[in-house]
Amino acid sequence: MADRDGFIWYDGKLVDWRSATTHVLTHTLHYGMGVFEGVRAYETPKGPAIFRLQDHTDRLFRSAHILGINLPFSKEEINAAHLSVVKENGLKSCYFRPMAFYGSGKLGVAPPANDVHVIVAAWPWGAYLGEEGMEKGIRVKTSSFTRHHVNITMCKAKANGNYMNSILANTEATRDGYDEALLLDVDGFVAEGSGENVFIVRKGKLYTPDLTSALEGITRDTVVQIAKEMGLELIEKRITRDEVYSADEAFFTGTAAEVTPIRELDNRQIGEGRRGPITTEIQRRYFAIVKGESAEHEHWLTCVK
Ligand code: PMP
Repeated sequence: MADRDGFIWYDGKLVDWRSATTHVLTHTLHYGMGVFEGVRAYETPKGPAIFRLQDHTDRLFRSAHILGINLPFSKEEINAAHLSVVKENGLKSCYFRPMAFYGSGKLGVAPPANDVHVIVAAWPWGAYLGEEGMEKGIRVKTSSFTRHHVNITMCKAKANGNYMNSILANTEATRDGYDEALLLDVDGFVAEGSGENVFIVRKGKLYTPDLTSALEGITRDTVVQIAKEMGLELIEKRITRDEVYSADEAFFTGTAAEVTPIRELDNRQIGEGRRGPITTEIQRRYFAIVKGESAEHEHWLTCVK
């Protein structure tokens, strides 16, 4: 990742990609106290457009607020940083990684409060869980790692350190030959994937876990809106793993994962064992929206001119 051409927005300046480095005593590197986002821009008829940029920036600031990190830039500056990295890198579509982290001002658990840095990087990135998975559905395994308890790490913050849990779960699942992990909460109910929210379809109704221990996904929110427009009933409730086993369809949502069908959980086929009709339609509508082919959703797009 470090060895490529281009520019990264780093503390207000565009820095050559290979020079966007930090010291080994960087506080966040040691303790994981930082916040980040995952954002995408798609190629649209009006040029590259960033999907729900303001919502991502708002969540970045909310995450920082939850963790007590004072961001030294305004939301407007962070939004503008996204636009500049698309332009300066000549990207048509991309994934963005904004992140705020503590510097090397001092080590020890108490962070250097006035030493907060922000980056926004962007690079081309295809289907997170593979093109084949988008079409045929992926194989998922219930993780032996439990999702965070609400009073251990803050589940509503997209915090760097929270992702140790995601990495453990994803690594375990992929080493065992699955595509992704499904994590249960401390009470044994379905929470989310390692980097995705989850939905199931049963008898024509859509279900998704409440947000107690899952991230408030922006793609999840987009799918909630799509479901409304499709006239689908959506029920937010606690879901058990056996409800997923016996669902007609299931899918993950996320900025990186977009809308990825799940064809199997713990070696149990879900529905017909392939992308189901409701998932197909939600996925179709999602891509039409992000690619600027849906006039009534244009307010979610920030064009990069
Ligand atoms: N849950 C987790 C743990 C995630 O990392 C993500 C990705 N940000 C999501 C859910 C989905 O969130 P979004 O749709 O906003 O990308």
